[in-house]
Amino acid sequence: MAVIQQRLHLGHQLGMKLPSPEQPLRFNWHNPNNVSLTVKRDDLIHPVVSGNKWRKLSHALEDALKLGANKIVSFGGGYSNHLHALGYCCQALGLDFTAIIRGDYSNNLTPMLTDLLAWGASLEFVNKQSYKQRSDADYLQQLQSRFPGAIIIPEGGSQQQAFSGVGELVEELNGDYQQIMLPVASGGTLAGLIATLAQVEQLQTALTGIAVLKGENYLEGLVEGLLSNSLQPAPDWSIDHRFHFGGYAKCPQPLLDFCQQFSQQQNFAIEPVYSGKVFYALKTMLENAEMPANSRVLVIHTGGLQGNR
Ligand SMILES: *Cc1c(COP(=O)(O)O)cnc(C)c1O
Repeated sequence: MAVIQQRLHLGHQLGMKLPSPEQPLRFNWHNPNNVSLTVKRDDLIHPVVSGNKWRKLSHALEDALKLGANKIVSFGGGYSNHLHALGYCCQALGLDFTAIIRGDYSNNLTPMLTDLLAWGASLEFVNKQSYKQRSDADYLQQLQSRFPGAIIIPEGGSQQQAFSGVGELVEELNGDYQQIMLPVASGGTLAGLIATLAQVEQLQTALTGIAVLKGENYLEGLVEGLLSNSLQPAPDWSIDHRFHFGGYAKCPQPLLDFCQQFSQQQNFAIEPVYSGKVFYALKTMLENAEMPANSRVLVIHTGGLQGNR
């Protein structure tokens, strides 16, 4: 109980709005199977911190504070929502932050990296080869000796420690759903939901991840790697690879048009990197009658709108 209060306190301190709203989706798509759609608005949790990033990071940050750690180190690309979210939180909590970044952006900083610098983060640019070592034990050991007492958080904040934070999304739900849809990039959010549904034995809810990058088998491997083998029985889960639109952050015109139209018709916005691909997938599946008749589907809007820049 004390722990939960402390975390709520931490979220509160950082201005996180929780629980996030759960709203029916109004739409005029062809819906032959009469599926009902609800959106979990994690995009509303915070204007800067991408929705699912707070869920994945809350426990790691809380532990860092409890341990009296002086520094956080993590990894990502130049446009990473994860590094951006973590940088914001570290600045707000008075923690030092070093971001290890794939590629050299020193002469052309992205908006995310400019924010990170403004928040006092140290940026280290590394080439692709070095970046590949980001989860090797030897490399992490070296990093730990360079930064004694630092907490090292993996890319995307995706680690088992993230599961309890992701699980709080499930605890918040009012409705019950046959299917939950969400975007998948590093797999931590999907793995956390699988682990939580298994733990609370809510096995009638299937999870459908929409791959936002080209990663058939690779993404499944990431999710399986995060789950412990002991997860039996687990809910049905799968990753749909039909909607990545050519790869991570690829935004062909039809996807951009879809996002723009959708955002005009709804009382909320989507962007092409994550949520746009998920809602596009949803519309396609609905129109193709791929979902069971009269089923209730929850879509998680993971946020990411700051990434539109
Ligand atoms: C990082 C991110 C994701 C991907 O989550 P993973 O746990 O890495 O699969 C989805 N949506 C948004 C908005 C994100 O920033």
